[in-house]
Amino acid sequence: MKRLSPAETLAEAMERRPALRPMLEAFAPLMEARGSLPERLAEAVAQSGFRLPDWDDARAQAGEPLLASAELSALALPMQEAASSLLPVLTAARGMAEHAPALTAFFQHGDVLRASRALLDADADSLEALAAEAGLPPAVLAFALENVLGAVVRAAVLCQWPASPDRHYGPEDTPAPWDERPASWMQGFCPVCGSAPSVSYLEEKIFDEKNAFASGGGGRKHLHCGLCGTEWHFRRGTCPACGKEEEGTLEMLREATGARGERVEWCTHCKSYCTGADLRERDTRPDMDAFPLCLMHLDMAASERGLTPLYPAFWNQF
Ligand SMILES: [Zn+2]
Ligand SMILES: [Zn+2]
Repeated sequence: MKRLSPAETLAEAMERRPALRPMLEAFAPLMEARGSLPERLAEAVAQSGFRLPDWDDARAQAGEPLLASAELSALALPMQEAASSLLPVLTAARGMAEHAPALTAFFQHGDVLRASRALLDADADSLEALAAEAGLPPAVLAFALENVLGAVVRAAVLCQWPASPDRHYGPEDTPAPWDERPASWMQGFCPVCGSAPSVSYLEEKIFDEKNAFASGGGGRKHLHCGLCGTEWHFRRGTCPACGKEEEGTLEMLREATGARGERVEWCTHCKSYCTGADLRERDTRPDMDAFPLCLMHLDMAASERGLTPLYPAFWNQF
């Protein structure tokens, strides 16, 4: 199955859904910049001496993501490097230009690490206070920080488990622990950073004798982290938000024709939803960071039904 780049993913969606074009065009430069950044940052992260804590099955089973107990101070320089790459494209997006000077100042001299910790801990009060100090609306600071921190965290994951986000492990690679022992991570949030998934997918049929993690008849469900892009296996009938798993918990919304596997899965119990696709109904595999933007029509349908997105983002707030 051909893997699409972020730009190809957005271009395909624009072709099929011209109504989404203005929005997708506006965010295409950011998606492209983010797509290539983690690999370029890997060296800066390796030199910083930062390491994600070792995987501990007991902590994982208790639902503790790796970054919950990580000391972030070594990430100061990689964060600065990521910010200098991303801020020019971030501030080119609609409504962001006026915040460019304050954002630049914040990533140069502000308390970026404390803000990152607040973001990871979903500590809205601290984030709001830091935004006020920086002269930024909290949503603008959070948006910039998510992009910068997300790229750095993905670079850190790549350093420790090469190829882990898309799981194309070579024979020399060590698979990430959540791939090697999926039963040790059963949560609906990211095993690395603790963020919610921005998209889910059922994998395509793959026959790859050399890669046990990407083989089989397809249909296994994976969640893709909205912040750092880590992917992990998740039980199909269970709600990632509230954990309920009785039959009938998850319902599906999809277009009557031409959906190409695209759907909303929503929870009848807690009314949260996640968009996604069944890749067995497609002939290309979208870039999973860019893909949620291409499913905005489904976010609108979910919003009309009063459902809440699992991963609140600029493309699903109406
Ligand atoms: Zn994550
Ligand atoms: Zn639920």
